[in-house]
Amino acid sequence: MTQAHSTPHRRSLVIIGSGPAGYTAALYTARASLHPLVIDGGPGLGQTMQGQGGQLTITSEVENYPGFPEGIMGPELMARMREQVARFGVEFVEDLATRVDLAERPFKVWVRDTEYQADVLILAMGASARWLGLDAEKPVWEGGLGGAGVSACATCDGPMPVFRNKELVVVGGGDTAAEEALYLTHFASHVYVVHRRDALRASQVMQKRLLSHPKVTVLWNKVVADIHDVAEKVVTGVTLRDTVTGETSRRECAGVFMAIGHKPNSDIVAGQVELDANGYVVTHNEVRTSVRGVFACGDLQDHVYRQAITAAGSGCMAAIQAERMLAAEAGGSTPEW
Ligand code: NDP
Repeated sequence: MTQAHSTPHRRSLVIIGSGPAGYTAALYTARASLHPLVIDGGPGLGQTMQGQGGQLTITSEVENYPGFPEGIMGPELMARMREQVARFGVEFVEDLATRVDLAERPFKVWVRDTEYQADVLILAMGASARWLGLDAEKPVWEGGLGGAGVSACATCDGPMPVFRNKELVVVGGGDTAAEEALYLTHFASHVYVVHRRDALRASQVMQKRLLSHPKVTVLWNKVVADIHDVAEKVVTGVTLRDTVTGETSRRECAGVFMAIGHKPNSDIVAGQVELDANGYVVTHNEVRTSVRGVFACGDLQDHVYRQAITAAGSGCMAAIQAERMLAAEAGGSTPEW
């Protein structure tokens, strides 16, 4: 049934996404001569985190990816993964997948008006930053980003001149908040971490670094209720609400960086593969979705580990399972799903 290359846009295997999961799936399937096509999200999509390289392109130093004893910058790690994948002749479509039809095989994937067909599909679209839902964040979603002083990416926007030697706010109490706050200390005069509880969620090592840093203060039991002057394309401060007393206060700052978790980028497959209550793709046997022939890997389906190394690992699993499925079908059998 595999008819790779019989039409210009027909492939045995299409991969959507180009984070560690997508690139690893591409690496393994390319080495298995499946000629994967990777729809990589396109360059410069920054804050949507669905662009080339995914979330690691907006991270600073990665210290926990094996093989890099001195650590490596996230963007460099992803550039090296892409280079490694390209060496095996993987073809890239440098844009976002806009629509899929998974009703029958071959599956159909559209990038704007161009249709691609695939016998097997690997979903690796990852996850994107969450926002508080304030009106003041809207200009950011509409494309204005860091210039307005509100951001979900300290690595992208922190070095901007507007934040230099200024007081900044980071929202959240997890590892991302800790990492972003510490990164911002390189530029800011002081960083205030606004956390809604009285205990951090971040790992012990990150907590220790954060709480001992002279340029960081954690504002406990507080939420950001408003951000001021975004309409004038400048941040001058935030209104904080105490989650215990309900009292409000104002803190001056030149920028607000959201670090309150992520949302899986599963919108284009919603209603076609099973999703859990939070929108993560549900998988069985590690990487198989509810649709035969559609695999999912990385942060799109993993809400537990969410690490580059686990994403890469599940990309590898998806690739090997896809390869075995195609080989079995080529031999005339219908493998279990
Ligand atoms: P998390 O889900 O771990 O943390 C989100 C934080 O935001 C929590 O402290 C949460 O508060 C807070 N929060 C969520 N919603 C709101 C809201 N509406 N208003 C105010 N605060 C809110 O997300 P992270 O992005 O920090 O981390 C995700 C995963 O990635 C984790 O497993 C983490 O360990 C991992 N990670 C690892 C890194 C590394 O190893 N170098 C670096 C970065 C992330 P509350 O605590 O009250 O729920």
